[in-house]
Amino acid sequence: KLYNQVQDLKGNIRVYCRVRPFLTGQPNRFGTVDRIDEGNITIITPSKYGKEGRKSFSFNKVFGPMATQEEVFADTQPLIRSVLDGYNVCIFAYGQTGSGKTYTMTGPKDLTEESLGVNYRALSDLFILSDQRKEIICYDISVQMLEIYNEQVRDLLATDGLNRRYPSSQNGINVPDASLVSVSSPSDVLNLMNIGQRNRAVSATAMNDRSSRSHSCLTVHVQGRDLTSGAVLRGSMHLVDLAGSERVDKSEVTGDRLKEAQHINKSLSALGDVIASLAQKNSHVPYRNSKLTQLLQDSLGGQAKTLMFVHVSPEADALGETISTLKFAERVA
Ligand code: ADP
Ligand code: MG
Repeated sequence: KLYNQVQDLKGNIRVYCRVRPFLTGQPNRFGTVDRIDEGNITIITPSKYGKEGRKSFSFNKVFGPMATQEEVFADTQPLIRSVLDGYNVCIFAYGQTGSGKTYTMTGPKDLTEESLGVNYRALSDLFILSDQRKEIICYDISVQMLEIYNEQVRDLLATDGLNRRYPSSQNGINVPDASLVSVSSPSDVLNLMNIGQRNRAVSATAMNDRSSRSHSCLTVHVQGRDLTSGAVLRGSMHLVDLAGSERVDKSEVTGDRLKEAQHINKSLSALGDVIASLAQKNSHVPYRNSKLTQLLQDSLGGQAKTLMFVHVSPEADALGETISTLKFAERVA
C-alpha cells in the first residue's frame, strides 16, 4: 500500500522539455541541441580546449523544434481531464525570456487555430468533456487571472462591468481573493484572456517588457454536482506563465531592476524547492517562501498533479541559460 502511495506521488510530477525553433530569418540549424530522443536531450558544450563536449538530460518527454501545439497538447490532455474528476492540477511554463513560454501557454501574437496554446485548448477540452457528462453531472466552470509582480498579487480581471464574485474559501480549499468569472464557452475564455492581457499591459508604465518579469496565472475552478446523489466535487487547474528565469548580473543592474530580479530569483527558487521536495517525498515542503508557492499551496502536493514545461532556446548565445534551465528542471524531475 505504502509502495503504491509512493509511486503515485512520484507519478504526480511530470517534466516536459520543449526546444523552440530558430526564429524567422535565422538559418534552420539545431544550434546547441545535439540530439533529442523521446525523453532525452543532448546539448553541445564548447570546451575551452577546442574540443566539443556533450551533456545529456532526461525528462518525461522532450519536444523538438518541429513539435506542433497540437502534439504538445496531446500529452497534456489526460491531466486536464482529471480536473473534472476533482483533481487539482498545476501547469508551469519555465525558461529564459524568449524561449517560448508564452507560445506554449497562449500561442504567438498572431494567433491562428493551429497555434492556439495550452490554456485555450485546456478550457475547450473542459467544456467538451463536461458537456458529454451533462446527463450525470452538472458542472460550473469559472476562471481567475492573476499576476504576481515583485511578490504582490494583482487581479487581472478586476474591471468594471464583469459579473464576478470574490470567494475566500470553498470547503477548505483556499481560493485566491480575486474576481472569479463564470465561463461557458471557449469564446468567453478568449474574451477574458484578452481583458487580462490588456490589464497587464495598462500598468506596464515605463517598463515595456514587464510581462517577462512577472508570473501570470490563469486559474480554472470546476465544480460538479452529481445529478442523482447531489454529491459535489471540486477540481482546479492553474496555468502559470512564469517570469523569465535568466540571471541578471548584479554588477550591471541597480534600483527597481535589481529588486525585480531578486523577487523573480526568490520565487523561482522557492518553486523549485517545493517541487523538488515533493518529488523527493520530504515531510517538510517549504511553501511559505514565496507568494507563488503560497498561492498554489493547495494545488501542489497531496493528490495534486504538476506538469512543468521547461523551455530552451537553441541559439549558441543562450547556452549558459539553457544549461541552468535544464539543471533546474532535472532537479524537480
Ligand atoms: P517567452 O514567453 O518565453 O519570453 P515567447 O513565447 O514570447 O517567449 O517566444 C519568443 C518568440 O519565439 C515569439 O516570437 C514566439 O512566437 C516564438 N516561438 C516560441 N516558441 C515557438 C515555437 N515552438 N514555434 C514557433 N515560434 C515560437
Ligand atoms: Mg512570455
